[in-house]
Amino acid sequence: MNAIKPVFENITNELNSIRPGINIIAVTKQVGVERTQEAIDAGIRHLGENRPEGLALKLQSIDAGVSWHYIGNLQTRKVKDVVNNIDYLHSLDRLSLAKEIQKRAEKPLKCFVQVNVSNEETKSGILPEETLDFIRSLTAFDKIQVVGLMTMAPNTSDSALIRTVFKELKSLQLQVAAEKMEHAPCTECSMGMSNDYVIAAQEGATFVRIGTALVGSESEAK
Ligand SMILES: *Cc1c(COP(=O)(O)O)cnc(C)c1O
Repeated sequence: MNAIKPVFENITNELNSIRPGINIIAVTKQVGVERTQEAIDAGIRHLGENRPEGLALKLQSIDAGVSWHYIGNLQTRKVKDVVNNIDYLHSLDRLSLAKEIQKRAEKPLKCFVQVNVSNEETKSGILPEETLDFIRSLTAFDKIQVVGLMTMAPNTSDSALIRTVFKELKSLQLQVAAEKMEHAPCTECSMGMSNDYVIAAQEGATFVRIGTALVGSESEAK
């Protein structure tokens, strides 16, 4: 596979030319420990996993000052295995999950509320029109800090449609931030993957989540 460092530098430059300060999360869910270590050696400081098993495997073998992002659907019964080992959760999408986090987290957890902007049945997430009420309902949960919103673009090659979805998430994020809720500063926007991170950056992403285009994919590590 390609060396990670030059790819990381290219993507960093590409994003910096759009807007400085965008955080790149290397999604390592499809690669093993060695490749993850290579990502860290290349200077990557944010890593993303979408399964408790993958996260545990990497935490066991990797000891470095990096931030771990949990980006996948999180089953309620898995919360206890995950929440105290991560820095960010990108998939807060229901009240029952919030309740379990409140019960299990030892300190406040930085969470992104996942929004189903494209309203696809196959996607999880809160509907846009319900997002503000959902976030308001988290006021009493002192273990949950809503740092931002997250979405996944629809699975399409229609870049105009993808752009519309990202614009809507950004506008919603700014709307929540304007409420200035103590538990929900909501200053961040997690959107953009390998195929659409440029569009996401142009539309105001502060975190992009890049897997295959950055660290590749090793089928045996799945
Ligand atoms: C897998 C995944 C990514 C990265 O996808 P790539 O297309 O490989 O860049 C980003 N976000 C989420 C939520 C994912 O599950």
